[in-house]
Amino acid sequence: MRVLIVEDEVRLAETLRDLLELERYTADICHDGESGLDNALSDIYDLVILDVMLPKKDGFSVLRALRQAGKTVPVLMLSARSELADRVEGLDCGADYYLTKPFEPKELLACVRMLTRRQQRASQNLEYGDLRLETDTFQLSCGERSVRLSRKEFDMLELLMRSREMVLTKENLILKLWGYESDAEDNNVEVYISFLRKKLDYLHSKVKIRTIRMVGYRLEQET
Ligand code: CA
Repeated sequence: MRVLIVEDEVRLAETLRDLLELERYTADICHDGESGLDNALSDIYDLVILDVMLPKKDGFSVLRALRQAGKTVPVLMLSARSELADRVEGLDCGADYYLTKPFEPKELLACVRMLTRRQQRASQNLEYGDLRLETDTFQLSCGERSVRLSRKEFDMLELLMRSREMVLTKENLILKLWGYESDAEDNNVEVYISFLRKKLDYLHSKVKIRTIRMVGYRLEQET
């Protein structure tokens, strides 16, 4: 699970990241509303933690723009302002939850769990063609055969299965799997794609991962 933290108070942002990483989430930080919106629009996050008072673009505007762009990623708003009007505005803009600063770490983590659980439930057991991917056990099966995927293989195949026949760019795969700050390159993607292809062969699946030259990958079914 990857979380985007949009918070201009550097120490608070880092504390949040540390907290989340202890709970095995991956977290990225943006310190202003503009870069926060850019990143949130990228589709690589499972949750956005969004402060209200931000430089360049306030949290409400970020959230409004995100929802107008059709993004349904859960958003947890943080604000030092506890006035009812603010809470209402946050929820009206499409926030999933509104937390007032200062908050207890436990309270924040409970919110994060609730909001990401909702995501996970929506995502259980993906199917595509003759393949079935179990999101809690990382088990990939085709008919009678099954195989267990590694974390990265799972993440990659999950993205491919969700994209169906749409092309998934290499850039998107790198961002989603390794994050903004990593130096992972195309090679890393190719290595995992080849692992996945071997497993699809082993399963005798009719689903293939097709390379779209210079762009990325997509799934297709042999007939
Ligand atoms: Ca702030």
